[in-house]
Amino acid sequence: MKRVFLPEKKLKQFFSKISQEYELFACAKSEETNRIVRLDDIPEEFEFAPVRTAESLRLFLLKLRQLVAKYPSDEFKEITPNFPRRAVIGVKGCDIRAIKIFDEVFLNDPDYVDPFYKSARESLFLVSIDCTDALDTCFCNLLGDKPYAEEGFDINLSPVEGGYVAIAGSDRGDEILSSLSLSEAEQQAISQMETNRKTVLAKLEEINKDFKTEKSYRELLEASEGSNGWETAADCVGCGACTNICPTCFCFTLYDLKGKDANYRFSVWDSCQYSGFARMAGGTNPRRSLLERFKHRYNHKFLHYPIRYNGVYACVGCGRCIVNCLGKIDIRQTFKKLDEAAKTAVSKE
Ligand code: SF4
Ligand code: SF4
Repeated sequence: MKRVFLPEKKLKQFFSKISQEYELFACAKSEETNRIVRLDDIPEEFEFAPVRTAESLRLFLLKLRQLVAKYPSDEFKEITPNFPRRAVIGVKGCDIRAIKIFDEVFLNDPDYVDPFYKSARESLFLVSIDCTDALDTCFCNLLGDKPYAEEGFDINLSPVEGGYVAIAGSDRGDEILSSLSLSEAEQQAISQMETNRKTVLAKLEEINKDFKTEKSYRELLEASEGSNGWETAADCVGCGACTNICPTCFCFTLYDLKGKDANYRFSVWDSCQYSGFARMAGGTNPRRSLLERFKHRYNHKFLHYPIRYNGVYACVGCGRCIVNCLGKIDIRQTFKKLDEAAKTAVSKE
């Protein structure tokens, strides 16, 4: 697809066009924490968040509480998911990649399609935007990713002087860009876009230079049985904040509620960090201790998920779990410690 130039003065028109079909949300810059805000009125100007927002797109795809069944009934009734059509403008590359992780689980296996996720996913229009800065907690580069999206968006915007280099990633995105009569982006704008991308990537390299590990995260976990490198786990209090804030976590539990005329079954977010999550009938629990649950979170994201889904990690390096951890645990530090422990073990052999 060709790259076009969206001038800043046409941004309002761009928003208006999208709002004709979708409820509009955008990732806004804020002095304190960047947030996804709902735009009831189209603003004259808009300042996009330079880095990821506090919340991710998970809230748009998996409801905190979802009614999934109503019973008893004398006939088979399906609850038809009916998600509103929504557009989020200004999403960062890490959050776009996070959706792919959900898609594998809830959408791509024809035997296990989640109708609620499918409805939410198909109703979502996504405009991504390149990161123009990086937080101290961002580490997408350590996972081999980049601070911009290369796929998975309807439209991607790259901020340059006077506007944005825009590219469509879907037919719908192409229709919207085409309707705005935009001219092709000039080479100067493309070069600026590439320079900006390299600058942010260089910043990420600098931020994370002390967190680099010799072995990959997957290799470290494969060899972590009996490792004494799990020392960061001592600060974990099992609050579950890391999983609740994570754009790629998807654990849920089902529960029933008795109503006046019927019973209702709900699906709610859950966390593998809670002691009851893996508990089974009879009280047996394969992950009774906090340390086992702590390790499980790492194993799930960096070992089990990649084994199941083509080597892809179930983490996008957004750093939200680092910012929100009550025990001040940094996921990068955990791997650094495992790496050091692995090296010490080899040198003793
Ligand atoms: S594990 Fe942490 S860094 Fe990775 S995607 Fe989840 S919140 Fe982001
Ligand atoms: S947020 Fe931190 S303290 Fe809370 S469960 Fe996760 S790792 Fe443990």
